[in-house]
Amino acid sequence: MGQTPFLEVNQAIVQNGGADLNACMQCGLCAAVCPWREVEGEFLPRLMIRQGQLGLEGYESDEVLFGCTTCAKCVLNCPREVDIIGVMRAMRSLVVESGGAPETLKAVLGSCHANGNPWSEPRQKRMAWTEGLDVPTYTPDKEYLLFVCCTSCYEQRSQKIARSLVELLNRAGVSYGVLGPEQNCCGESVRKIGDEALFQKLVGANVELFNARGVKKIITTSPHCLKTFASEYPELGGDYQVIHSSQLLAALAGAGKLPLAGTDSRQVAFHDPCYLGRHAGAFEPPRQALAACGARVVEMEREREFSLCCGGGGGRVWMETPPERRFSLLRVREAAAAGAEILATACPYCLSLLEDSRKTAGLENLRIMEIGELLAENLS
Ligand code: SF4
Ligand code: SF4
Repeated sequence: MGQTPFLEVNQAIVQNGGADLNACMQCGLCAAVCPWREVEGEFLPRLMIRQGQLGLEGYESDEVLFGCTTCAKCVLNCPREVDIIGVMRAMRSLVVESGGAPETLKAVLGSCHANGNPWSEPRQKRMAWTEGLDVPTYTPDKEYLLFVCCTSCYEQRSQKIARSLVELLNRAGVSYGVLGPEQNCCGESVRKIGDEALFQKLVGANVELFNARGVKKIITTSPHCLKTFASEYPELGGDYQVIHSSQLLAALAGAGKLPLAGTDSRQVAFHDPCYLGRHAGAFEPPRQALAACGARVVEMEREREFSLCCGGGGGRVWMETPPERRFSLLRVREAAAAGAEILATACPYCLSLLEDSRKTAGLENLRIMEIGELLAENLS
């Protein structure tokens, strides 16, 4: 890419979906709120966009080009309404097309291509998380398809998200089922990493499967799947009503359908995942679900639309990030400063990174939990 004339690169970025690239006036308001400002590192969105306007030369390193976590904080602060995430994605796609992605992300893409999941796990092990549980198969008479994200299917810590959710759905009498090994990754991270062709392939296979099975409504365990199904599948033939598990659990608790003791008086801080909060606007349901346990919800310094990204979006959950560059380390310290005994979240990426950083920070008295885990612990 380095030898390509900049106008050609600029036009290629625009054609790849970075349509707003040239609307940027370089004011720097995006960089002012980007979490990279708070850690060591070279990434700044204004500079990235400038490089996109001028051509990609010198910006092909993993650290810089693949720094953006797609947290959307900058998007809300841009006076020109530049689709900054779209520009990042378009820039990455040029590098991915030329074979230049970081090795860990190449492995993610290769596994999605071969196995339908990013974790380099066999497709047939997709249902390993259900061991010992009563999990119905989806049939058209069921109200919801439960779409368990790849991370909750394969990653040991996150499997508890899916297991707790099933326990809650069963107790509430929700009509749902799962599709099993035929389902593919929703494609969210694949698109953000920059492999548009693979994204389209995964979506095509899922849409064909969902439509053939008569799926109308979907529960997701990950806010990343929520956003992708709700906003990106319709243009590719997949039109479904989508709800995140935390939203459904809040509704079930509010309707008195979950037998919760309501006696958990621990102090709980809620970490708003970027894709549930800023991307989907769901700030209250997770807090309502926590309150239904009896928990005292304490707010951290940054909450709701100002929440600090955990650092796991945009493919970065698979990239090695040294402690001094981890947003999640700042976040667990914020939770401790707010007096939280539990830091709850509603996303498998957040859960994983916050858990790692809790250990790094030595915060032994802080528990990291997903909302469903906390609710399941409070079932009477
Ligand atoms: S805030 Fe918007 S206009 Fe300003 S530098 Fe960032 S992308 Fe460009
Ligand atoms: S989406 Fe988040 S990480 Fe990416 S440039 Fe914007 S503020 Fe920074």
